[in-house]
Amino acid sequence: MLIKGIPASPGIVAGKAFVLKPEALTIPKYKISQKEVVAETKRYMDALVLTRKELAGIQKKVEKELGESYPDIFAAHVLILDDPSLREKTVKIIEEKNANAEHAVAQVLEKIGKTFSHIEDSYLRERAQDFKDVGRRILKNLLGKKEETLTNLSDKVIIVAHDLAPSETAQMDKKNVLGFATDVGGRTSHTAIMARSLTIPAVVGLRDITQRIESGDDIVIDGHEGIAIVNPPKSTLERYLKRRKQLAVLEKKLDKLKKAPAQTTDGHRISLMANIEMPKEVELLERYGAEGVGLYRTEFFFLNRRDIPSEEEQFQAYKYAAERAYPLPVVIRTLDLGGDKFASVLETPKEINPFLGWRAIRFCLARPDIFKTQLRAILRASIYGKVSVMYPLISALQELRQANKLLEETKRELKKEKKEFSRNIKIGAMIETPSAAITSDLLAEEVDFFSIGTNDLIQYAMAVDRINEKIAYLYQPASPAVLRFIKHIVDAGHRKGIKTAVCGEIAGDIQLTLILLGLGVDELSMGPVAIPEVKQIIRSVSIEEARKITEKALSLDSTEKIVSYLKSVKEPLRLLYEPR
Ligand code: PEP
Ligand code: MG
Repeated sequence: MLIKGIPASPGIVAGKAFVLKPEALTIPKYKISQKEVVAETKRYMDALVLTRKELAGIQKKVEKELGESYPDIFAAHVLILDDPSLREKTVKIIEEKNANAEHAVAQVLEKIGKTFSHIEDSYLRERAQDFKDVGRRILKNLLGKKEETLTNLSDKVIIVAHDLAPSETAQMDKKNVLGFATDVGGRTSHTAIMARSLTIPAVVGLRDITQRIESGDDIVIDGHEGIAIVNPPKSTLERYLKRRKQLAVLEKKLDKLKKAPAQTTDGHRISLMANIEMPKEVELLERYGAEGVGLYRTEFFFLNRRDIPSEEEQFQAYKYAAERAYPLPVVIRTLDLGGDKFASVLETPKEINPFLGWRAIRFCLARPDIFKTQLRAILRASIYGKVSVMYPLISALQELRQANKLLEETKRELKKEKKEFSRNIKIGAMIETPSAAITSDLLAEEVDFFSIGTNDLIQYAMAVDRINEKIAYLYQPASPAVLRFIKHIVDAGHRKGIKTAVCGEIAGDIQLTLILLGLGVDELSMGPVAIPEVKQIIRSVSIEEARKITEKALSLDSTEKIVSYLKSVKEPLRLLYEPR
């Protein structure tokens, strides 16, 4: 049974499923005597202390595994735990009704839980999952129950769950976790981001996979394609195992290429860079032979938290990335919230068309307080490495000028305060809208480089919502429209003497490597895992061949023809194996 979900972290794994179905807790109900009230209250308080300790322990583990600048994902848990009304209400029931602590706290939890859906504050409303997690922990500690087996998995398994609370993911014994598959979640959910940081393959948004599988069933997950296959027939399993083996062999082979340049047989060189979301991921650069970070997405900082990250907190994260990557460069993208990434802390109003709405640079220009705080942090971090700053979703020259004006203003302020920053920090614009693409000659005057965000450019160029499955068939990277856009941008940049990168998902799509090369793209930035394969392809052709192939592809009138043409040229180019 094949279930299609959302690719969250690349890699193919096959193994036994470990289905996480939270055990229903049986809550005892009995009366205590008046004499026992004090002891019962103490028992409850002790459970709170124990829960707090537990959470602090898990947070420590997260920091150890994912770096200190990983957000405090348990801040909300602690707030809930410390909420005086939870404590007082429970104690009151114990005292006035002579109820046992489990029954008292369960009653209060149920009451508060019900009100969650009516809460005005969107941050708190979203914390329902955290609340449940905390409640369960308190109850378990009262009942003297041990943690579920996730902490000490004895076999290598693929974890299948409805959703994974950050505390659950954090506690897992990672060396025995082959992969994750969850019913819900998107690319920016905690599970997805953590999986990528830990380089564990994951597929999320599999709807009802937990209903269709039992622990011990065989499962294959393909984190490239976003597919899970439950109890695959032997032939399918073999196909996947073969593919995985190929990838492993390839990885080993390509390992040797780590230090080799991404250079064609006739010496044309481009840069292969990594996309990251957490500063700690900088450590992956070396492993996959990336030549730097081409896109550091900074949204994750702002998600799932109650406060806006301070300048200092951001500075520490950017500094860490800059220092660890040095002498390799790091391109930090300013905040790209809105669209499909909302930070409840910012209380932005709901929109009918969020992808066309108050998003990315538009939001930042309207909130210079937030934007300048981030710019200050980036500028201050710039002396610790080779840092560039890049603005997302530029759609007009005016916007770019405004952003640059704020950057200059920020520099002046820092200078006044005698705070150091690199004077020649490079500035880039992401070209992700048709309006930016078509006016890229104008934009090129104001920046040092372009980076094409094809994930968005495709959606805006083709008018296809990038996250709507019903119209996913229209989302066509190899369409004549998209290829012409890319060509137009690259050419405009080159005419003005600036380089153009591609940092959308297509940068790591080996079917399109030749075409991107032939179009003259100077840099490809992708999930680091994809780098070795892309490099191998680049090293197997001459730039002349790539240009010819591109010219031919551009002369074709449909995506289908282009795709089948690209498939047909792989043979003479001796690619290592069948592209996906
Ligand atoms: C893109 O749009 O291609 C891109 C890299 O940015 P994001 O996916 O974060 O919108
Ligand atoms: Mg984008």
